[in-house]
Amino acid sequence: MTNDFKTLDDLPDDLTGKRVLVRVDLNVPMVDGAISDDTRLRAAVPTIAELADKGAIVLLLSHFGRPKGRVRPDMSTALLVKPLTELTGRSVRFIEDCQGPEAARAIETMTAGSIGILENTRFHSGEELNDPELAKGMAGLGDLFVNDAFSAAHRAHASTDGIAHLLPSFAGRAMAAELIALQRALGDPDRPVAAVVGGAKVSSKLAVLGHLVTKVDHLIIGGGMANTFLAARGINVGKSLCEKDLLGEAESIFERAEAANCTIHLPYDVVVAKEFAPNPPSLRVCNVHEVAADEMILDIGPAAVEALGDVLKNCRTLVWNGPLGAFETKPFDEATVALARTAAALTRQGSLVSVAGGGDTVAALNHAGVAAEFTFVSTAGGAFLEWMEGRTLPGVAALERAA
Ligand code: ADP
Ligand code: MG
Repeated sequence: MTNDFKTLDDLPDDLTGKRVLVRVDLNVPMVDGAISDDTRLRAAVPTIAELADKGAIVLLLSHFGRPKGRVRPDMSTALLVKPLTELTGRSVRFIEDCQGPEAARAIETMTAGSIGILENTRFHSGEELNDPELAKGMAGLGDLFVNDAFSAAHRAHASTDGIAHLLPSFAGRAMAAELIALQRALGDPDRPVAAVVGGAKVSSKLAVLGHLVTKVDHLIIGGGMANTFLAARGINVGKSLCEKDLLGEAESIFERAEAANCTIHLPYDVVVAKEFAPNPPSLRVCNVHEVAADEMILDIGPAAVEALGDVLKNCRTLVWNGPLGAFETKPFDEATVALARTAAALTRQGSLVSVAGGGDTVAALNHAGVAAEFTFVSTAGGAFLEWMEGRTLPGVAALERAA
């Protein structure tokens, strides 16, 4: 990732009557027909409003749910017209297809500065297949393409990749902010750099760990996955979540870290209990060497948190994915909350650039009340993880190629 892409700043101030196709991620979670979290809609608003203010005809492209190439009324983007109207404070109309002559005719009646939301891109099976014909059908509806959906950029789909080959292409405001923050965290960071990787399993993050050891100076491992690394060091982790089949992989991460001069930090003390429940009577803190056969590790301990805080104090950059403990259940949130607050304080003081991402990580930072104090928090799930793996994201590569 080079940050070599065009943004809205490269567009003329006057876009009167220009049809701008904007790929947004409007894939909001729904519960009983109502939106349960509108974060993604809100994230799309600045780019939409800016383009409309410049006189563009703003045409929104998005997937919504998993219709798998079929028309599903419960996954129609028509359901998003009202919430988007409310959030933008402008009128938003629905266009019944994301390609083709009927959509083109509807768009012809739109005036400068107006907003249309095109039907779910995934109603066409060509979307996920990156079908060039579908990309052409979409591109035919517009003059320019703006991609503002970082969270969909790890997919090479017609609306994220194919279309960017066919129209002048630009990163929207949210996309640009995300790419700049990620570049600052791992592309060209101020050193030393620390990474915190936690969460339940090593298996879901092997590629992340393998990439990070070549990029960062300190790799802090917490969460359930730390147990596998402790076990690889010959430590008895009792009944803890532990992936015994991955001890060899853990060993190889240690070796690669050593070769790359990356220090791996594992906890020396842990919070254990005999049952996984809120405030269980068997709760205790112990040294990692003292975990009993019937106990499980559910958080890292206070001495470890203090030592890790000192590591962060000596670092200039932090990238964080995954909670340090089973933070949804008290008191196993304590390490995550404490280290997140240290990172937030260092960020506030200007000594640390802090970038975090991942579904549960964002929830944990919100729980700690510090998400707003981090330099950047990515709400992209899969795309953020693939970026942490060092992979090229097709949607981003398409913007770079276009530039
Ligand atoms: P993210 O969504 O941020 O990428 P993950 O999905 O990888 O994070 O991991 C989050 C989950 O890991 C949480 O549900 C948390 O309860 C769990 N977890 C963290 N530490 C432990 C532990 N020691 N034992 C069991 N589960 C844990
Ligand atoms: Mg998760």
